[in-house]
Amino acid sequence: MDLQPFHSGVSPYAAGLGCRCPRCGRGRLFNGFLTVAPSCTACGLDYSFDDSGDGPVVFIILAAGALVVGLALWVELTWQPPFWLHALLWTPLVLLSTLGLLRPLKATLIALQYAKRAQEGRLDKGDA
Ligand SMILES: [Zn+2]
Repeated sequence: MDLQPFHSGVSPYAAGLGCRCPRCGRGRLFNGFLTVAPSCTACGLDYSFDDSGDGPVVFIILAAGALVVGLALWVELTWQPPFWLHALLWTPLVLLSTLGLLRPLKATLIALQYAKRAQEGRLDKGDA
């Protein structure tokens, strides 16, 4: 499957952070929270090339895990608060950092996939 013709002055990072179409930067990328729309409502780009897989989740687990564990260790070593205060502090931070970052990060990876024309690897048999 070839990607549709590439043309874009849109930064994949700007399109991703705004959850917009990677080609025109105007149309919405998602139908729901994480459901990618079938195509762009502004330029008609077919989003079937989307294959971000588990990529956004891996990055978020690494970043949010380092942030929350680092802060929890710092708070514990500095003040030794009771367990319930740890739960009160870190549960909302985990939810905000993971759910809040998931959508823009998925959109950014899709925009980068489009900008770099990334697709599934194929063997080159050299007879073309
Ligand atoms: Zn578009």
